[in-house]
Amino acid sequence: MNLSSKTAAVIGAGFGGIALAIRLQAAGVQTTLFEARDKPGGRAYVYEDQGFTFDAGPTVITDPSALEELFALGGKRMADYVELLPVAPFYRLCWEDGSHFDYANDQDAMDRQIHARNPADVAGYQRFLAYSRAVFEEGYVKLGTVPFLNFRSMVQAGPALAKLQAWRSVYSMVSKFIADEHLRQVFSFHSLLVGGNPFATSSIYALIHALERQWGVWFPRGGTGALVRGLLQLFEDLGGTLRLNAPVDRIEISNGRASAVVVQGEALPFGQVASNADVVHTYERLLGHVPRGVAEAKRLKSKRFSMSLFVVHFGLSRPQPQLRHHTVCFGPRYRELINDIFNGNALTDDFSLYLHAPCVTDASLAPPGCSSHYVLAPVPHLGQAPVDWGVEGPLLRDRILAYLEQRYIPGLRRDLVTSRIFTPADFKTELSAHHGSAFSLEPLLTQSAWFRSHNRDDAISNLYIVGAGTHPGAGVPGVVGSAKATAGLMLEDA
Ligand SMILES: Cc1cc2nc3c(=O)[nH]c(=O)nc-3n(C[C@H](O)[C@H](O)[C@H](O)COP(=O)(O)OP(=O)(O)OC[C@H]3O[C@@H](n4cnc5c(N)ncnc54)[C@H](O)[C@@H]3O)c2cc1C
Repeated sequence: MNLSSKTAAVIGAGFGGIALAIRLQAAGVQTTLFEARDKPGGRAYVYEDQGFTFDAGPTVITDPSALEELFALGGKRMADYVELLPVAPFYRLCWEDGSHFDYANDQDAMDRQIHARNPADVAGYQRFLAYSRAVFEEGYVKLGTVPFLNFRSMVQAGPALAKLQAWRSVYSMVSKFIADEHLRQVFSFHSLLVGGNPFATSSIYALIHALERQWGVWFPRGGTGALVRGLLQLFEDLGGTLRLNAPVDRIEISNGRASAVVVQGEALPFGQVASNADVVHTYERLLGHVPRGVAEAKRLKSKRFSMSLFVVHFGLSRPQPQLRHHTVCFGPRYRELINDIFNGNALTDDFSLYLHAPCVTDASLAPPGCSSHYVLAPVPHLGQAPVDWGVEGPLLRDRILAYLEQRYIPGLRRDLVTSRIFTPADFKTELSAHHGSAFSLEPLLTQSAWFRSHNRDDAISNLYIVGAGTHPGAGVPGVVGSAKATAGLMLEDA
């Protein structure tokens, strides 16, 4: 091995990029992590305002074992860097008829609530759970961190996928076991958390339910930003280098191999290069000067991308003890609204929301006696609905805050101390996300595993991809899993 192959550049400090950088550095590869923005985290960026801390993205932290593994690789204990607090219930799901369901890891409490809605669904739920566990074993434990580099690997997974009826949608599979419409929503909405339409995405994504039941739902003390900081502290303790405010302009290719990254006009040589940036941005912008970049960007742009999100962060002058940490607020329509989000070309009048109330678990995220929040609504991406977010953003914010005030947070606008919005246009400009998608390529069966961007580029043998656009896909466990798959290849190749 020559000296240069023991150096690596990772472009982008999202969870996937950070996890990959830790794995490489822990294995003795001198790794530099380049982040375009002033703070790390990517989708897990943090805003601070008047004593309020707002996590911008992931708040439901699952599979802590995948995170612990990163610390163990470096010979450290996660508990020395970050504390994970259990969240109970996992979520409260609310409907406009005034009813709610507390989705928790307590089987008796779940059975009681299911029974109250439809007694026959108690047994149906057990069958669904067994199915979800089988998919979890196959899709997450066995295949979640294995790179799919050739079609043969896809064919090998075929029989298991066929047995699990992976061609069916999550909703259709849930409906096979459960009759009550509200309960069908309870057990099918999860794929939205990774950008998947429950009516179109493969039933493989039903594994999220088993994953949550297996390891629980957690929240880092100090917010998700504290987890990002803990991971980066680990990376730096291992000797890695983090460079913030360092957008990579292009990846130099010589003799068919990645030779350097160009940052602010300076070409910095590395033995291996991995990109955690959006996959279209990686090929179109960073590799647009070589035929491979042009061809791959064109191919990727013909694919379907996940929906975007409209997010309002807001701080209130009072605590909100009536809320749970995670609340899903279902609007009047489910199937029709989701269809409009994934296939429509305009904003709808109604919405369904996810409401974050982290002070329920950790009061330190707001000044004493106050509470910090965010609320998000899934919305079509820019390629589908060319909304003028400069105009529509403030209007939608006002509609959403009024709705929350009416149903969930009395006096919200009276107690409002601060608020800010993050729109699909911000996903595009701030994160270079194609179409402003919040989750990259849509997780359809025909865009999963081998059909997704490969963890190692097909033509440039020392160029790698990590994060939501590659296998296995979006979500913190997904991108941390992608880092394992990609690191395996990089270490093998080095
Ligand atoms: C609002 C929201 C809520 C979510 N909630 C959850 C949740 O509760 N649980 C969960 O598991 N998942 C959740 N997700 C999904 C999850 O956050 C993402 O799938 C995951 O964090 C994406 O990680 P990533 O590694 O792909 O990188 P990203 O987070 O996409 O980061 C990529 C990084 O690359 C940087 N970059 C881009 N171009 C360049 C360049 N040229 N040079 C240098 N740097 C560059 C960007 O600035 C960015 O920091 C949520 C997502 C959003 C948006």
